[in-house]
Amino acid sequence: MIGIFGGTFDPVHYGHLRSALEVKEIFGLSEVRLIPSAQPPHREQPAASALMRLRMLDLAIKNQPGLIIDTRELTRHGASYMVDTLKSLRQELKNEPLLLFIGSDAFNQLNTWHQWQHLFDYAHIVVMTRPGFEIQNLDDFFKARRVSEITELAHNRAGKLYFLQVTQLDISATAIRNMFAEQQNPGFLLPDTVIAYIKKHKLYQRPKSHHLH
Ligand code: ATP
Repeated sequence: MIGIFGGTFDPVHYGHLRSALEVKEIFGLSEVRLIPSAQPPHREQPAASALMRLRMLDLAIKNQPGLIIDTRELTRHGASYMVDTLKSLRQELKNEPLLLFIGSDAFNQLNTWHQWQHLFDYAHIVVMTRPGFEIQNLDDFFKARRVSEITELAHNRAGKLYFLQVTQLDISATAIRNMFAEQQNPGFLLPDTVIAYIKKHKLYQRPKSHHLH
C-alpha cells in the first residue's frame, strides 16, 4: 500500500510530518508521497512560491526513509485537482492499494472538491483527526464506504473510507505564518532547518488575513 499526502505545505510543519510518519507505520506503507499543490483550487494562493514550498518540504524530510516528495502537481498546468493526481498515480501504480490521507478539516469540505465522488474510484480515503475539527455526520455515500478494519483497505485497491486517530498536534501553517509576521518564535512547531530557510528568504513577513484554524 502507498500513502498520498497532499497539501499546500506553506510551510510544512510537525502536524504534517508526525501524521505522515505515523500513518506509514500504522498501515505498514512502503512509502508516503507528499504532494505539494501548485494552485490550490479551494483557497487563496500560497504565500510562498511553489519552489520555496518544495525546498522546505525537502529540508523537512531529509533522512526520513519512506517519506517521498512527488512533484506531479507542480509540473502539471492549471489548477491542482486531487482527482487528476490520483488518476495519474493509479496509471503508474496499477494494482497497488492507494491511501489518500486528509485531515478532518479537509474531510468536512470534501464535497466541495472537484469530482469528489470519483476520488474513491482511484484510492481509499483515510481521515486523520485534527484538533478543533469534529467530523460532521456522515451521509449515506460515506456510510456505505466506511470500514473499520485495516485489512479491508489492503484487500481492495480503492473505494473505502477509514477514520484514524493520530497524535493530536494543534499546529497550522496559518498560525505559523502569522508568528513569523509578528516576529514571534515558532520553535518546535516545525523543523529548525525550515525555520532557518524562512528567515534566510524573509518569507511570511507581512500578516495575511486568512481563514481561521
Ligand atoms: P493552512 O493553515 O495554510 O490552511 P494547514 O496547516 O492546514 O495549512 P495544509 O498544507 O493545508 O496545512 O494541509 C495539508 C493536509 O494536512 C490536509 O489534509 C490537512 O488536513 C492536514 N493537516 C494539516 N495540519 C495537520 C495537523 N496538525 N494534524 C493533522 N493533519 C493536518
